[in-house]
Amino acid sequence: MNAAEDTNHYFLKAARIMDIGQRIERLLMEPVREVKAQVAIELDNGEVGVFLGYRVQHDNSRGPMKGGLRFHPEVNPDEVKSLASLMTWKTAVVNLPYGGAKGGISVDPRKLSEKELQALTRKFIDSIHDVIGPQIDIPAPDVNTNPQVMAWIMDQYSKYHGFSPAVVTGKPVDLFGSKGREAATGRGVRVATEEFLKTVGRKIADSTFVIQGFGNVGLHTARLVHEAGGKVIAVSDVDGGYWNARGLDVPKLVEYAKKNRGSLKGCGDGETIANEKLLTLECDVLVPAALGGVLTKANAGDVRAKVIVEAANGPTTPEADEVFEKRGIPVVPDIYANAGGVTVSYFEWVQNLQNFTWDEEKVNGELDRIMRDSFARVHRIATERKVSLRTAAFIVAIGRVGKATVLRGL
Ligand code: GLU
Repeated sequence: MNAAEDTNHYFLKAARIMDIGQRIERLLMEPVREVKAQVAIELDNGEVGVFLGYRVQHDNSRGPMKGGLRFHPEVNPDEVKSLASLMTWKTAVVNLPYGGAKGGISVDPRKLSEKELQALTRKFIDSIHDVIGPQIDIPAPDVNTNPQVMAWIMDQYSKYHGFSPAVVTGKPVDLFGSKGREAATGRGVRVATEEFLKTVGRKIADSTFVIQGFGNVGLHTARLVHEAGGKVIAVSDVDGGYWNARGLDVPKLVEYAKKNRGSLKGCGDGETIANEKLLTLECDVLVPAALGGVLTKANAGDVRAKVIVEAANGPTTPEADEVFEKRGIPVVPDIYANAGGVTVSYFEWVQNLQNFTWDEEKVNGELDRIMRDSFARVHRIATERKVSLRTAAFIVAIGRVGKATVLRGL
């Protein structure tokens, strides 16, 4: 199955239980718009770099479309389509007044200078500025994009449409960004984990964690779980993994990554461990926090975690999901578990539209409330209908998006 089929597989599983009918199924599966753009820039060496950029807008029945923009060599139309629909379901699970979208440029940003990255970002916005906007589609950070990239997007879009901070979220706090946005996905993952553990009579403080990925999401998840007393026994990034059964020195790793352009290479903490081995380490909570499709038919049988919390988008293939269901390993699904990021993006957008700023306590308090309330709803449906947390989350999301679609009519 390709990535888009994976998402639609989960969607259909819930849609069939709900019996929404083929007509609505079709409406909710196809994106409303897909854009593919050539992004050509002059490289520092004088040559021309030609890249492909995508923006897929999946659904806008519940509000402007919302979703990140990633820079990665593996970005392709199929993956962006899948990630765009995940955003529709994600914003609906936590009940934000948004639809879903996603974008990406197929590029290895590690091979570009800061100047080239800026040119790439601005050129992409030149191509898509007419189809995004504060009431149309609002990009945000994702894999390998950060507040600086968001600042360039805001600036470039504003050249065409006038001053528009609300066109993009995840901006620097000094440029209309929201306090608490950078750590928001990790904070949401922590709350999601806490809520799940409560249902099995456990706490973060008496659990061990393996975290795959040490980008914005993995780093803050590790930091916040560590702060809550959890023992992080292994982490990894694109360059390798680090493992210490007695617990890694997370604050030291965070400092190291910050000084080392995000990489843990050479951090010297724990034993080095291959990514594939890391995913199958014995632990209480496994947190995939990097790319999609890492838990597959090939390794699902070897996973020794007691629960999987999906901080990444689409880390579990449907085949692996079935294995986990059979083996009784619960999966806290991406469309709920990593919704903290887009939730605080929503707070940022609201602040921008109102020309008003919230303090960090308010941001974190509101985020916590939304994550806990949403968990309660998803968990209740999972229990009542005897379905997995993923199917329950899709049932909540499809219910909301389906109702809005029917009410609006064609
Ligand atoms: N890229 C993040 C996600 O996948 C955040 C999206 C947003 O803030 O709009 O949820």
